[in-house]
Amino acid sequence: MNEIVLEGRNLSRFYEVGGGMLRKAATVKALNGADFTLEAGRTLAVVGESGCGKSTLARLVTMIEEPTGGEILLDGRPVMRADKRLRHAIQIVFQNPYGSLNPRQKIGYILEEPLLLNTDDSPAERRSKAEAMMQRVGLRPEHYDRYPHMFSGGQRQRIAIARALMLRPRILVLDEPVSALDLSIQAQVLNILVDLQEEFGLAYLFISHDLSVVRHIADDILVMYLGKPVEYGSAKEVFANPRHPYTAALISATPVADPDRKHARIQLQGEIPSPLAPPPGCPFHPRCWKAQQKCRETEPLLAGEAHKTACHFPIEPGERTGG
Ligand code: SF4
Repeated sequence: MNEIVLEGRNLSRFYEVGGGMLRKAATVKALNGADFTLEAGRTLAVVGESGCGKSTLARLVTMIEEPTGGEILLDGRPVMRADKRLRHAIQIVFQNPYGSLNPRQKIGYILEEPLLLNTDDSPAERRSKAEAMMQRVGLRPEHYDRYPHMFSGGQRQRIAIARALMLRPRILVLDEPVSALDLSIQAQVLNILVDLQEEFGLAYLFISHDLSVVRHIADDILVMYLGKPVEYGSAKEVFANPRHPYTAALISATPVADPDRKHARIQLQGEIPSPLAPPPGCPFHPRCWKAQQKCRETEPLLAGEAHKTACHFPIEPGERTGG
């Protein structure tokens, strides 16, 4: 086991919405009790459909927002919002490379700005570090004096990754980093991320709705549904033997070139319920083909040793799923 660099313990983020003279405010539990550990040099993928809480998790670990419950530990010590360790240890790359780069700044300045604000490096040192990082992400020296609009989507995401690495963080939060890119470009960016992880020993918290992407990059997986973790384990184990019906459905919807594939596609019933009125018992029960009375009454807790699941009737190895 590698050194644990980041931990979430019962991490939660609730929002009060509505309310006023006549109506009672409601509570949206965007993230409700997430536990996870992230090791140096490894990738933890957080997966689920839109609204499952994965992007909230990304905003909490980078302290863009503060948790309303639980705690985050960096190198074993609790993190506060103004903690200076954060900026140097954790950086984030967002989904949209178009929106995350200032169109009026040249690439050289975009890369050097974190050094300008946080180090005593001389202009020559800053430039040399920026050029070295450009080379590592596959950008050419002449790109230094160009503006973001002069680049393709894939190149812009490389610039965003390079900027995130300028302060040499140990943890990168990657929030849907390739979702806005074409398939062939996605593969290039993922390969760069894999190389950078090896070179710098980076830990990645990789947020994605796309399991075909996650399959290529994850060491461990945390599956979320309606703000709650429902399955957590090594990627190999979770992909080979998903135990939670929701995970099995997500995996079954992922295209794979495997004629011996064990499970047919599982068609989930209905839509994700409103987070304002989550169903009682297991939040997945209105969509689950294995649901029984107990599921409608009692909420299952995440349980297990290395491979954990929150389900009263988890899928057994070899059990037939789907049609
Ligand atoms: Fe399905 Fe019941 Fe498991 Fe929930 S607890 S996932 S409803 S079998």
